[in-house]
Amino acid sequence: MAGPVLKACKSCSRITEEDVCPKCGDQTSREWQGYVIITDYTKSEIAKRMNITENGKYALRVR
Ligand SMILES: [Zn+2]
Repeated sequence: MAGPVLKACKSCSRITEEDVCPKCGDQTSREWQGYVIITDYTKSEIAKRMNITENGKYALRVR
């Protein structure tokens, strides 16, 4: 019943199903906690703090 395993990029925290981040090409990890959905990174304080320059779903903590 489990859906696709979501992973998070170790560099940019982007959440993806891929083993390699589609954004920066770095490795992804299954060990992550919490996430934020950025719908407008230009207006988001969190995006600014996390250096996010693209809308999407990002993990708050990646191990
Ligand atoms: Zn990345």
